[in-house]
Amino acid sequence: MFTGKLIKNEPHFRTRPDLIPKYHKYSNGTFGLFASKSMLQKMIAHAIKGNRYEVIGSLIGRSFYDNKGHYSILTNSAPAPFADVTHGTVTTTFKDEQFFKWVQEAYHPTEDILGWYHSHPMNLEGYSSIDRGNQSKWIEPYQIGLLVVCNYIQNKFTVMAYRGPESELLLPSYSVYKGGPEIEQLTEAA
Ligand SMILES: [Zn+2]
Repeated sequence: MFTGKLIKNEPHFRTRPDLIPKYHKYSNGTFGLFASKSMLQKMIAHAIKGNRYEVIGSLIGRSFYDNKGHYSILTNSAPAPFADVTHGTVTTTFKDEQFFKWVQEAYHPTEDILGWYHSHPMNLEGYSSIDRGNQSKWIEPYQIGLLVVCNYIQNKFTVMAYRGPESELLLPSYSVYKGGPEIEQLTEAA
């Protein structure tokens, strides 16, 4: 669960790029999401660090619109250092929300907190009904939820993407294999 006060963005008009080097593109219909690969790998590293416990954090970026509709660009993420964690749940605390706001203001002043992410350390694919309930608090169609699914059998880590209060699934998901103890050794899955 993400307990923070949600920031409402006002998207600007800007024609969307076909692709952005170093970014993974998710889409569904006319909606597009560009997610920084270094951000995705940082989130995966956070999930791996959580071991068998779920981790949670915030997503930083901006939303725009063009003739096709809305699209979002995620440039960075911030892990929640003070989250309440059990094996099956994870919830941000007030201290986390203060930290997210500080990270956004201090390092990413031209961007907003645009969503949240969390992990499923037990290889559970897709949002649970609780996750969908949490996502429904992000009421704008361009706000994003990312889910890191950890498959420790194959050492494969997949980041699934959802948008808006309806948790619309965006495809394709982003996957990497972990080839060694360091996150730098992640290799993209085809
Ligand atoms: Zn979940």
